Amino acid sequence: MSLLTVGTMAYDAIETPFGKTDRILGGAATYIALSASYHMSKSNIVSVVGEDFKQSHLNLLKSKGVDLEGVQVIKNGKTFFWSGKYDLDMNTRDTIDTQLNVLAEFNPILPEVYKDAQYLMLGNLMPSIQQRVLDQLPQRPKLVVLDTMNFWMDNFWEDLIEALKGVDVLTINDEEARQLSGEYSLVEGAKKIMAMGPKFLIIKKGEHGALLFHEDQIFSAPALPLEQVFDPTGAGDTFAGGFIGYLAKTDNISFENMKRAVIWGSVMASFTVEKFGTERIAELTNNDINERLKKFMSLVNVDI
Ligand code: AMP
Repeated sequence: MSLLTVGTMAYDAIETPFGKTDRILGGAATYIALSASYHMSKSNIVSVVGEDFKQSHLNLLKSKGVDLEGVQVIKNGKTFFWSGKYDLDMNTRDTIDTQLNVLAEFNPILPEVYKDAQYLMLGNLMPSIQQRVLDQLPQRPKLVVLDTMNFWMDNFWEDLIEALKGVDVLTINDEEARQLSGEYSLVEGAKKIMAMGPKFLIIKKGEHGALLFHEDQIFSAPALPLEQVFDPTGAGDTFAGGFIGYLAKTDNISFENMKRAVIWGSVMASFTVEKFGTERIAELTNNDINERLKKFMSLVNVDI
């Protein structure tokens, strides 16, 4: 099944208790596409970069079967830049800087060949742009997943509420779920958020795993306890890529299959945090992934 991902392609500067980086490859769409590529040998991406975006980074995505016809390269423009710093516990981070650059004027134009997308991943991006991509599809995809973050809640609340009306699955973290719903209880909050549009809600809780909500059903997946978490950047996007990649490959959007997809999302995210940026997710082999999936299964398997 065809998968279309929309989101930022970025340069990030990251500081964790283990070190500091200067302008490394990042962006929501980058992580999603790399992660989904282990399920989908081909996928499409809509994004924007500046002239400073390195050819080697475009080549990396191409080598993973990601079609880049939908990526606009803006002459004399600068790529979206984000910098963040993590606390010692690695669960909380402060955004130091967000420079929209080419994203501020981005008008997404879908190549004709992308328009039959069956699975649409609206990665973290300005909500009005996410909406414009959905509006350009002549037929509604089988599944629309939207990821967002507090930045858009703080600055583009109305646009986000409008975009949520048209999505099937929303993925956000626990802090964002509380901000969006105004509820401290995630269960109460989930009900309120699902009333805003999404039929399914995934709340990511970092090292504490993820919750999947649908109507009155809840599924909980742990995160794999790792010896060392080096850099959590992109874990949420990598999760989203593993989640939608699995659903698109199996072409089954039942709640049961979404549970499996949540496990796949968690498996993929567990790699990203092991090294800075996209380094780990870009180098994985199928063997690494299968071994990690086995570990995950033994973590949750119990006979009572
Ligand atoms: P995550 O850790 O999964 O939330 O994703 C981190 C990635 O999101 C980084 O690579 C950033 O470039 C990107 N990012 C940070 N802020 C934003 C934003 N406001 N909109 C879209 N992408 C962002």
